[in-house]
Amino acid sequence: MPSGIMLFAECRQGQLRKVTLELAGRGSELAAQRGEPLIAALLGQGVGPLAEALGQAGVDRVVVADHEALKDYTTDAYSRVMTDVVRAWDPAVVLFGATAIGRDLAPRVAARLGVGLASDCVALDLDAGKALVVKRPLYAGKVMATVGGFSRSPAMATVRPNVLTPAVPQPGRRAEVVEFSPRFGPEDRRTAVKELVAAAGEVVDLAEADVIVSGGRGLKAPENFRLIEELARALGGAVGASRAAVDAGWIEHSHQVGQTGKTVSPTLYVACGISGAIQHLAGMSSSRCIVAINKDPEAPIFKVADYGIVGDLFQVVPALTEEVKKLRAG
Ligand SMILES: Cc1cc2nc3c(=O)[nH]c(=O)nc-3n(C[C@H](O)[C@H](O)[C@H](O)COP(=O)(O)OP(=O)(O)OC[C@H]3O[C@@H](n4cnc5c(N)ncnc54)[C@H](O)[C@@H]3O)c2cc1C
Repeated sequence: MPSGIMLFAECRQGQLRKVTLELAGRGSELAAQRGEPLIAALLGQGVGPLAEALGQAGVDRVVVADHEALKDYTTDAYSRVMTDVVRAWDPAVVLFGATAIGRDLAPRVAARLGVGLASDCVALDLDAGKALVVKRPLYAGKVMATVGGFSRSPAMATVRPNVLTPAVPQPGRRAEVVEFSPRFGPEDRRTAVKELVAAAGEVVDLAEADVIVSGGRGLKAPENFRLIEELARALGGAVGASRAAVDAGWIEHSHQVGQTGKTVSPTLYVACGISGAIQHLAGMSSSRCIVAINKDPEAPIFKVADYGIVGDLFQVVPALTEEVKKLRAG
């Protein structure tokens, strides 16, 4: 009988990714409702010490697959080991972050297990029979679908980063740690990662950034994104954008915030020359402090902003950057 909720504990460069703690937060609530354990599958090399943080985040059991072939993510090796871990533990539910890795890995594991997968979910719940039900946007966010009735076990889902509340660490809480010995065939090791290179100019990963400075159509030309980059750099943050700026070809889609871009939840979100369309707000309105810079006092962004600056961004943004630099230097 399948039992327990399993999450894929994604890490990068020896650190757990924020989405893992988000899955642990909601996963532990669902596991408690089912009266079953929350299990984390932790794959990598030398990742054992991360079990402590997972325990504090509400995980009951950490299955550690430690192997040099798992040092960096590769599709073949991770698919093989994750599938074997799921087969060995037979959980009722398996959750992944809808990150680049989760989106690559989850469908492959689902296909190998012959089960379905609900991708890019924004909410997780249980139905009256305590089976998984999820919400996921369809048609570029025009419709929100409720998906349940997974006919085969485990029920699998990928969940968007920054939509669930991360687990609050409980100091002293510990998870049981179980070693898992991965086995590989030649077909599982067809690729090797030789080097990881950060994207040129990338200051901080948007989805995990604590501070985001975003630019919209108000910037008027691609070269003016320099102003946004300079403020972001001064604040130690990442650069975001509205869809209008992305569609105009001023910046890559990976920077887009909103319904058809990334959902972000930083401590500080600075929106420059962005009107505040509903589809943009859908991706950033849970930010803790929102600062809007717009020359139109009626712009809808001011309705969600904690601080609003009515003014010309070409004057306000460089002035802010200068002040931030002075404060940081002092
Ligand atoms: C299905 C669907 C999905 C979508 N998904 C997304 C999404 O994921 N993300 C997203 O952002 N949008 C999305 N959109 C598009 C969205 O509806 C808006 O069109 C878009 O967000 C507008 O971008 P903007 O605010 O940069 O541009 P605009 O709405 O044109 O706003 C520009 C703002 O800049 C201000 N401005 C101009 N000059 C200055 C200046 N010198 N100084 C200060 N302020 C100035 C103006 O007053 C204005 O408020 C989606 C739309 C659809 C239909």
